[in-house]
Amino acid sequence: MKVTQHIKEAKDTLFSFEILPPLKGKSIQSIYDGIDPLMEFKPKFVNVTYHREEFIYKERDNGLLEKIATRKRPGTVGICAALINKYEVDTVPHLICGGFSKEETENALIDLQFLGIDNVLALRGDPIKTEPTFRPHKDGHKFAVDLINQVTDMNDGKYMLDDVDLEPTAFCIGAAGYPEKHFEAMNKQTDLKYLKDKVDAGAEYIVTQMFFDNQKYFDFVESCRKAGIDVPIIPGLKPVKTLNHISFLPKFFHIDFPEALSKELLKCKTNEDVEKVGIEWGIQQSKELKAAKVPCIHYYTMSNSSQVKSIAKEIF
Ligand code: FAD
Repeated sequence: MKVTQHIKEAKDTLFSFEILPPLKGKSIQSIYDGIDPLMEFKPKFVNVTYHREEFIYKERDNGLLEKIATRKRPGTVGICAALINKYEVDTVPHLICGGFSKEETENALIDLQFLGIDNVLALRGDPIKTEPTFRPHKDGHKFAVDLINQVTDMNDGKYMLDDVDLEPTAFCIGAAGYPEKHFEAMNKQTDLKYLKDKVDAGAEYIVTQMFFDNQKYFDFVESCRKAGIDVPIIPGLKPVKTLNHISFLPKFFHIDFPEALSKELLKCKTNEDVEKVGIEWGIQQSKELKAAKVPCIHYYTMSNSSQVKSIAKEIF
């Protein structure tokens, strides 16, 4: 079922979460072990991230270094299909522009349709670690809006080879939104304009980047509505978990910790201290969002479900 249909039918705020495929060589059991504790909260859909290639250097016998492209976390589509089978839950694979030609995207969408997957979250993807800026595939898409246009075309029965009588796909398309602005955007206004373009191209709902100050989400929703973006905007939450997160999350995701949270985090001496603060903050954020009747709260688990379980227990 489509994410938008779940939202339409819901009587209260929904619960959903996002997982990462395991590192290459790990079994799918690690995914089930992470998901099992969260199933009691009846998620309506589970997102599975997509990770493109990275470059690593391997030493050859002659002592020279060889640059090798490798995907450390493959398996997005397989995991989505396995979760549908095992839990009868809807899944949302993330689809990115980076590393894909348009034809590879078309073929991936055909696979997804054959597997009974009704939703995709369409993203540009980040630059690969060794590149300073995002470089699209030479036959691929530069921005998420272009990818959304391709999915919309297929939903209209338009494939790349202009053949007639092709079966339309029926994907519900989600897009990413940034309450604190995407880090490359010149300003909030241009970022909002490009977000509106994604909705006009066919995105039916938005999932936000993580934020720790609900006011930023409420302001973002207000700006979106003023800009004519009228699709559901699902807030994304990530509980802080480790001492390392205190610098990593703001740096990597380009988000700020509010003053009150940073004060609490600065008192923490151990990962356990941070974990407790993260849960308490997540509970407070979730309570306020639920009271504001947001359509769904989407939790980034980053392969760790214990904190999300502690929060969900208090909310759902
Ligand atoms: P876009 O919407 O294309 O925007 C990228 C930048 O370009 C923005 O600054 C925007 O303002 C600007 N822009 C957009 N259109 C135009 C235009 N026409 N002309 C000029 N500028 C333009 N990454 C992964 O690799 N895998 C994942 O699974 C993944 N999951 C994510 C899930 C969520 C909910 C979120 C919020 C992010 C996720 N990301 C993931 C990260 C995402 O790929 C990055 O944030 C990426 O840098 C931008 O993706 P986007 O889809 O928002 O890009």
